[in-house]
Amino acid sequence: RSNHRRKPDWLKMRPPSGQRFTEIKRELRDRNLHTVCEEANCPNLGECWSGRDGPGTATFMLMGDRCSRGCNFCDVQTGGMEALDPDEPANVAEAVVEIGLDYVVLTSVDRDDLPDQGAGHFAETIRAIKERDSSILVEVLIPDFQGEPDLVREIIDARPDVIAHNIETVERLQWPVRDRRAGYEQSLSVLEQVQRESDIYTKTSIMLGLGEYAHEVYQTLSDLREADVDVVTLGQYLQPSRSHLDVYDYVHPDAFETWQRVAEEELGFLYCASGPMVRSSYKAGELFVDALVR
Ligand code: SF4
Ligand code: SF4
Repeated sequence: RSNHRRKPDWLKMRPPSGQRFTEIKRELRDRNLHTVCEEANCPNLGECWSGRDGPGTATFMLMGDRCSRGCNFCDVQTGGMEALDPDEPANVAEAVVEIGLDYVVLTSVDRDDLPDQGAGHFAETIRAIKERDSSILVEVLIPDFQGEPDLVREIIDARPDVIAHNIETVERLQWPVRDRRAGYEQSLSVLEQVQRESDIYTKTSIMLGLGEYAHEVYQTLSDLREADVDVVTLGQYLQPSRSHLDVYDYVHPDAFETWQRVAEEELGFLYCASGPMVRSSYKAGELFVDALVR
């Protein structure tokens, strides 16, 4: 109903700038590393990298820029995956230390093509960072590893501080939105396993504006709490190109605020970041540290 409407004012971006921004960019280029912050043109880049009001955060994209899956909301290219770079774990760890980040998010494309779906590479990168500086907080945003418990366990055993896996949308919309190999129950089971087998914090994200009803959002939040998920973020879906799913509607900031209250006060999530521009890793470090001292 609002596909052809202009973007509302609350979605206008502020371009990042400043010396710290330039320094980080150079460090990343020198080491041939990729961040989601830059590649997705994330509107929060200026705030996150500068750590303006808290720990500096950046999101690294591991295992290349091509994915074995093709979700209809996602801008990453499908197919033509490259071999893993064996130096990537060490390179990421050195860059994180060099840049002086306090909180790092590691994510990846899905690598259904690899025998271990990339779980080993992920785990190695977590360990490489922790070995260099154990005080750096590491959040990983992992694929579902096709729900294989042994692969999820490899991540748990590497001891990151937060394990995130995105459920993306409500149950009814999983399959216009996500690749057929992903699914609601499978994603819940990954989060449940982390809760059951460790004391690591869990986190997930839901996109709004895809045509979901309020009662479905509520149901999803309840299911996530049932699985003991600690943190949830809600943000506006934005169409990356004309060939991706249409935006169904631009959800008003007040509605996002209401969901935040429902999630925190009624359902008891540790915290909920909710707003049109919020992404899974939005000020992740700052909000996480705040929630722990609360
Ligand atoms: Fe990077 Fe995530 Fe912050 Fe965006 S929200 S700038 S992707 S850390
Ligand atoms: Fe994008 Fe992740 Fe889907 Fe791959 S699995 S297409 S990276 S959302």
